[in-house]
Amino acid sequence: MPHLPEHLLAGYRNFMNGRYLTESGRYRELAREGQAPETMIVACCDSRSAPEAIFDAGPGELFVLRNVGNLVPPYEPDGEFHSTSAALEFAVQSLKVKNIVVMGHGRCGGIRAALDPNSAPLSPGDFIGKWMSLIAPAAETVSASTFMTATERQTALERISIRYSLANLRTFPCVSILEGKGRLSLHGAWFDISTGELWVMNKETGDFERPVLE
Ligand SMILES: [Zn+2]
Repeated sequence: MPHLPEHLLAGYRNFMNGRYLTESGRYRELAREGQAPETMIVACCDSRSAPEAIFDAGPGELFVLRNVGNLVPPYEPDGEFHSTSAALEFAVQSLKVKNIVVMGHGRCGGIRAALDPNSAPLSPGDFIGKWMSLIAPAAETVSASTFMTATERQTALERISIRYSLANLRTFPCVSILEGKGRLSLHGAWFDISTGELWVMNKETGDFERPVLE
């Protein structure tokens, strides 16, 4: 007998009676034509920062990659297992997305682990410790800043890590070449889960600012 947690089955029932019903034409079209999303989002696995919800996106609109801490590793063609790089390669080379948005969020557990790598239950020997060591130099610098409160350090590293990931994105030849030709744009954003505020990175300064909504 097939089995799923009851709340998932209830949600699926709502989906079929609601969203799928109203968007069934779009789903059928996407099945027939294939997907052609214009935007890739790199977001955290955190259950509170779902890009499709935040950007009110329907089926086929966003190509979403989620990992702990919304990190992009540098280009390393070393034959190892690189799931993030594989998704990136597919989005850029096959789907030919026009935008890549790295979206961080407030109260990120991955960033907290990077700031305090010895805190329980995580240790540097765990997968998360290894993964978050991608931003270790920034984490060490921010951790050492005693002028900042713990909350300020957390927010600072959440935003610095977005700039880090954007820099790593540009180490991928396919990204930097297309960006140079003006066919791909890179963006940074940070979502405050407590207020719903979205802060968008200014490309010139790297600062995060509130967008003007009409
Ligand atoms: Zn997170």
